[in-house]
Amino acid sequence: ETIGANLARTARTWPDREALVDVAAGRRWTYAAFDADVDRLARALLASGIAKGDRVGIWAVNRAEWVLVQYATARVGAVMVNINPAYRTHEVRFVLRQAGVRLLFASLSHKSSDYRAMVEEVRGDCHELREVVYFGDPGWAAFTARGEAGDRSELAAREAELSCDDPINIQYTSGTTGFPKGATLSHHNILNNGYFVGELVKYSEQDRICVPVPFYHCFGMVMANLAATSHGACMVIPAPSFEPRASLEAVQRERCTALYGVPTMFIAELNLPDFASYDLSTLRTGIMAGSPCPVEVMKRVVAEMHMAEVAICYGMTETSPVSLQTRTDDDLEHRTATVGRVLPHLEVKIVDPATGVTQPRGRTGELCTRGYSVMLGYWDEPEKSAEVIDAGRWMHTGDLAMMREDGYVEIVGRIKDMIIRGGENIYPREIEEFLYAHPKIRDVQVVGVPDEKYGEEVLACVIPHDEGDPLTLEELHAFCRGRLAHYKVPSRLSILDAFPMTVSGKVRKIELRERYRD
Ligand code: ATP
Ligand code: MG
Repeated sequence: ETIGANLARTARTWPDREALVDVAAGRRWTYAAFDADVDRLARALLASGIAKGDRVGIWAVNRAEWVLVQYATARVGAVMVNINPAYRTHEVRFVLRQAGVRLLFASLSHKSSDYRAMVEEVRGDCHELREVVYFGDPGWAAFTARGEAGDRSELAAREAELSCDDPINIQYTSGTTGFPKGATLSHHNILNNGYFVGELVKYSEQDRICVPVPFYHCFGMVMANLAATSHGACMVIPAPSFEPRASLEAVQRERCTALYGVPTMFIAELNLPDFASYDLSTLRTGIMAGSPCPVEVMKRVVAEMHMAEVAICYGMTETSPVSLQTRTDDDLEHRTATVGRVLPHLEVKIVDPATGVTQPRGRTGELCTRGYSVMLGYWDEPEKSAEVIDAGRWMHTGDLAMMREDGYVEIVGRIKDMIIRGGENIYPREIEEFLYAHPKIRDVQVVGVPDEKYGEEVLACVIPHDEGDPLTLEELHAFCRGRLAHYKVPSRLSILDAFPMTVSGKVRKIELRERYRD
């Protein structure tokens, strides 16, 4: 089934259920109204000459129109190109040119980002770009009005031409370890993944999902949007970009049953001084993913946010994204120490990164995924695709993991982040989890820095709870003494007030490593 057909089916099944709420804009759609607006926008795309396979870019913060564009481009078989709203001219020029974007939808501006000015600056360099439509501008209304005249039979003919294996989306990776890569994904890839992610948290037409994570990233557009529309659930947009108060207010006001976030978002919400004043009793589930989830945070999410059925997922843009997920009845230990077990209809294995030999359970190696979720390839980069997808169609994730006897998988860390100190392999994640329990530490990242004697040394970058009373290296050592192997104990400490982050909420360790290289 294509994404367009799947939405139409949901709209026929639950026409009067709510599909979408944009809290900041004060607007809401039922499934019937949402499907009709998607249809009108799809006809406007046809009237604008968008052919099957044409690239349509979207460079915008979260708002209802983002979701309309997502489904309308799918309905006409265009390839939507998600562009990170944190990009500036250098990166947006690269993406627009690399993907050959023909039509671009963009925000006018948000906070300090003037998208219109940036688009105008790069437009002359992007020869395939014919038209730009800004959300919240009269140009948007004029564009959608082209769909009024459009003919439904023309759209039906286009839909009949589509295959669920067609490319439908180019999603750029977060850029945590370098320049982002464009993963080319099909209807089949992302619709199935959204469906199963939703299935495992038991979504139904009764669910209302609060989505503070950016739509440009797979966490928003697949794990939230496609999971919602394939089960008849409602998408609630609390704000254009993440604000902890707006999320909790939206949960309370819209009686949300699910809340999404990367760990840093949950930490920000839990640490609000007036956290206890929000009524979050409607929450049942939600998803925490994207980077390692500290155990302490997870316990508070379950206990204080009522999210007894919260799930942890592991995934990557290249695999649509999720391949491992916890189940709602897993005990807290499995939902904190592991990222769950493989999704239905997918395979995972752990291999020795050097030899490719499958490792027995209990042994650490590189995690590989196979099945419907593996991307078609990186857009326009066949050599890079061949580096990660082998002849047997296994995707090599670049992550180190260990599968327990019961099939649950523990993520150990990225191969690239591993610290090798005097021949010992050190996984930053383990040290971070340990240090997180120190009362003076609010957040911590561990990276390797070059060292003449050991090759690499362990550096802890700490955000203290109290800037006036930061942690000292002596205190850190006293805390580790007798409890952590000597070679893992950080020999260096840096106190920071923030970490360099990607828009999807991940710490850019590569930037920390570069900062402390000397
Ligand atoms: P880039 O590939 O551009 O460097 P990225 O890998 O961060 O960036 P994404 O595709 O957004 O881009 O993220 C996938 C990665 O996120 C995984 O490979 C893994 O390292 C990490 N990750 C995802 N979920 C989890 C999780 N639950 N626990 C630990 N790490 C996770
Ligand atoms: Mg990656």
